[in-house]
Amino acid sequence: MMTDIHATVDDQLRRSRQRYTLGRRQLVELLADTERPVTIPELLELGARQSQSSLYRNLAVLEQCGAVHRLVSTDDVSRYELAEELSEHHHHVVCRRCGRIEDITLPPELEAAIGTAIGTVRVERGFEVDDHRFDLMGICGDCR
Ligand SMILES: [Zn+2]
Ligand SMILES: [Zn+2]
Repeated sequence: MMTDIHATVDDQLRRSRQRYTLGRRQLVELLADTERPVTIPELLELGARQSQSSLYRNLAVLEQCGAVHRLVSTDDVSRYELAEELSEHHHHVVCRRCGRIEDITLPPELEAAIGTAIGTVRVERGFEVDDHRFDLMGICGDCR
């Protein structure tokens, strides 16, 4: 699994004329292990052995080549996760107070119902939908 991820990221970076350096590999491994999008301080806590400026630069390169997805939460802080091509399709619950984001997977019936609803967008607007995102907003257990 991790080998597949590395092969895909290597490919994505090559296409952006970038190299898959050790620092970038390490970030991809850390992100593959987290169950929610994480901030830069959290990446440092998780053991990213890089200066903050290298972290910013590596994450920007990984985001630009499509391997990493950046989300800006309700606290205006950027959080990072692997792109869905490298993980799996999911949604997010977002806390309005602390900005924490958790991943959630919806039941297949609900994903299917969303797919059907999206079909009508194509018919009504002539818009070809190939992906969807939505977040559930609220207050997390810690903040409540
Ligand atoms: Zn919270
Ligand atoms: Zn979905």
